[in-house]
Amino acid sequence: MRILNLSGRLAIEVDDGHAVDVAHASAGRFGPDPQSVYQQWDEFVSWAEGGFDRSVREPVEPGSLGAPAPRPGQVFAVGLNYREHASEAGLDLPEIPVVFTKFPSSVTGPSGVIALPKGSVDFEVELVAVVGRAASGVDAATAWTHIAGLTVGQDLSERELQLAGPAPQQFSMGKSYPGFAPVGPVLVTPDEFDDPDDIAISCTLNGVEVQRTRTSDMIFSIPAIVEFLSAVVTLWPGDLIFTGTPSGVGWARDPKLLIGAGDELVTGAEGIGQMRHTFRNT
Ligand code: ZN
Repeated sequence: MRILNLSGRLAIEVDDGHAVDVAHASAGRFGPDPQSVYQQWDEFVSWAEGGFDRSVREPVEPGSLGAPAPRPGQVFAVGLNYREHASEAGLDLPEIPVVFTKFPSSVTGPSGVIALPKGSVDFEVELVAVVGRAASGVDAATAWTHIAGLTVGQDLSERELQLAGPAPQQFSMGKSYPGFAPVGPVLVTPDEFDDPDDIAISCTLNGVEVQRTRTSDMIFSIPAIVEFLSAVVTLWPGDLIFTGTPSGVGWARDPKLLIGAGDELVTGAEGIGQMRHTFRNT
């Protein structure tokens, strides 16, 4: 199943380019707020799998799409989760996941213009998991049953603030400017993938591919991350988990490749789709 936030309303994609409004099709049982569905995720999936009226469908305009989980209670992010990225950052491989947050006010949708703060703004394509069932003390073996689905995200990062001062540094602040956590364009349930632990992700800056990997190259898989996080924190329905970026980030290049005003960043994942953002100075 492919879930959309279409003009702020929960929708299900029923064919390429068309969607059904969930609040209408369910006579108000679910939606219209896309964030609220995660509180009723199991009931929602049962309802959708049982069949629903698909006769009233509307076109999906890319500019009308919002974040599939627009107001998560918590946003987790994992650093250094790909070997080559740890190497380009000049850091040792972590023995346990390196966790920080992107504050929820940084979440935005899969298209539009993002304001560049002063400093050095960089791209980080990441697969993003959305929690569908509360998780506390969950083993990796059952972790996928707590995930509603997958979407693609950018862990946009202002590197100067991120790396300011002595360790531990300001990761959460440097990655939380408005619009720095775009996610979308759809939420895809794990059953839609041949292997949800092996998905191609990539991004291009001004048409030039700058990052590409498969998520099977992660050091800590999504189940391992859920086990680690949920041993400490209760994961709530609708929370986001950014799972780490591969090598190729602009800050590690010589010369550095930073995002400037007027640039276009296209971010994609196999089986999910693409986000498209441009940038302007503040
Ligand atoms: Zn990241």
